[in-house]
Amino acid sequence: MSTTEDTAAQNLSFQAEVAKLLDIVVHSLYSNREIFLRELISNASDSCDKLRYAALTQPSLLEDGGGAFAIHLSADAKTKTLTISDNGIGMNRDELVANLGTIAKSGTSEFLKSLSGDAAKDVNQIGQFGVGFYSAFMVADKVEVFSRKAGDQQGWVWSSDGRGTFAIATAEGIGRGARIVLHLKDEAKEFAEPHRLREIVRTYSDHIALPVILDPAADAKPKEGDEAPQPETLNSASALWMRSKSEITADQYKEFYHHVGHGFDEPWHTLHYRAEGAVEYTALLFIPTQKPFDLFHPDRKGHVKLYVNRVFISDQLEGLMPRYLRFVRGVIDSSDLPLNVSRELLQSNPTLKKIQSGIVQRLLKDLKKRAENAAEYNVFWKSFGPVFKEGLYEDHERRDELVDLARFQSTAGDGLVSLKEYASRMKDGQDAIYYITGDNLNALKASPQLEGFLAKGVEVLLLTDPIDEFWVPSVGVYDKKPLRSVAEAGADLGGIKGADGEKKDEEVGAAAEQATSDLIGKLKAALGDAVADVKVSNRLTGSPVCLVAESGGMSLHLARLMKQHGETAGMAVRKVLEINAKHDLIKRLMTVSGDTFDDAAFLLLDQARIVEGEAVPDPAAFARRLSSVMAKGLV
Ligand code: ADP
Repeated sequence: MSTTEDTAAQNLSFQAEVAKLLDIVVHSLYSNREIFLRELISNASDSCDKLRYAALTQPSLLEDGGGAFAIHLSADAKTKTLTISDNGIGMNRDELVANLGTIAKSGTSEFLKSLSGDAAKDVNQIGQFGVGFYSAFMVADKVEVFSRKAGDQQGWVWSSDGRGTFAIATAEGIGRGARIVLHLKDEAKEFAEPHRLREIVRTYSDHIALPVILDPAADAKPKEGDEAPQPETLNSASALWMRSKSEITADQYKEFYHHVGHGFDEPWHTLHYRAEGAVEYTALLFIPTQKPFDLFHPDRKGHVKLYVNRVFISDQLEGLMPRYLRFVRGVIDSSDLPLNVSRELLQSNPTLKKIQSGIVQRLLKDLKKRAENAAEYNVFWKSFGPVFKEGLYEDHERRDELVDLARFQSTAGDGLVSLKEYASRMKDGQDAIYYITGDNLNALKASPQLEGFLAKGVEVLLLTDPIDEFWVPSVGVYDKKPLRSVAEAGADLGGIKGADGEKKDEEVGAAAEQATSDLIGKLKAALGDAVADVKVSNRLTGSPVCLVAESGGMSLHLARLMKQHGETAGMAVRKVLEINAKHDLIKRLMTVSGDTFDDAAFLLLDQARIVEGEAVPDPAAFARRLSSVMAKGLV
């Protein structure tokens, strides 16, 4: 038990972000306020799941020996109160303080960040973020939570009006679990009406596997000759995933997705099936439409819940889904797994491995089918492509399948392309799949490194996700065609036949060749250590210069990424300056010398850096040189 336990009531302040969130919720005029009930019933159901699991190893927690879990609602229109009770795991003092006041959920700050300042608009965001317990303050001006944790003697009461502080005190005679009493605001008294509660529970909570029971009002007296009013179960009270598909409506699937997946959008895909045979299990899985804000947080929790025979086991099993499918949410239930082994043992259970593999196979099969509709598939790819691509280097076994499901931006247009499409339209003499990496699509499209490829009509993949730097080298080849970076690949452009009517390269005379090689010598001398080398380019057509990575070295984009992450290895990458010998500026450069030449050499290098997306290392020197060259030019 808590060391800070105290019998006297104590007033505590909400954590700053929680207080801010509550301020918005309290003043909310959100039209969909009824979702508070979904949130509270969802919490009650989770809490019963937790106790059922804990009691597998510690049956005494159930106290009465029975495990009849249920959620009760009771409403009193006269006092304008609505009570939601569960006989789940409950909370002790420290848990009440932490869960309902002092620890902000990661979604809280995300919600606060999304606020635009326009009150009406902001309030409508609430539903999307699922503010959980706190949504009670949309309808109540005072909330009390009576709770006793399973196995504890002492009960507690938490209470608050949602305005800055909450109180916590001991409470006697409290049943196991939690009882939440909402003192409804005047304008929310409809939520004490039985017909309204019936309607809300059927709409939002029908899928809850426990009975949600509406108790008769305390003062409800039977009319003479009538039977006494009976408690009324409002939902179907059976696990949704065990029902047959034909009995489940799209809305029921969606509400279940909201409950189990904590998602607040429409599911992009729903996969519900029962596997029979060697391993038996049922899976009800969803792919969200929107990218969750925490997709890339390292401590992100899993969102697939494992049940064994309808008993919730865990949503924290490492590897229940491969990491590259971590956006999938839902439930897996199997009767072929042992009920009372530890989570650690379960993780390495061979049956679980078979289930995992079956699920991944089904998901990939569905994705393949959905990829036939490019517009729909693009929605998925935009949200989850960057995560899915992790599979290209993590899941060797399924790599070919995953590569075929991947989509890319390319120079061929605004749409996404697959490698299969790319390969089908490669030019005569083209033996590689070309790509360019960077962090910004528009900058990539304008990169001078592409000029030679565009001139020949050779398609280039535009890769803008950090992950691209990692999977490309690990995949290496598609359909016997190597993946090659344009930044290193200039040399083999010569073998590719360009579009018809393309101008033949002009013959370069011996004198011109000598002048170019003199210029290269002068540039190397002027630039010194700032570059690894200076070379004539055959990839440039419109720009005078560009920067490329040394052949076989780290790409410039990867080097920048590493530098951003404080990796010093990224700083040492050596760059090659390529010059376009046919460009007027380069030709002019052959005729100048002295300070003007040095200034121009550095300006060209800085220009190449800027186009590449790098910072100019010495902005003051850049400005001085630019002014000097401009002053000479402006005559
Ligand atoms: P979420 O349910 O998304 O975690 P909530 O704000 O709804 O967020 O609840 C915060 C936490 O409070 C829950 O994670 C749970 O630990 C605890 N909690 C809420 N309601 C109950 C309840 N009825 N019984 C036990 N614990 C609860």
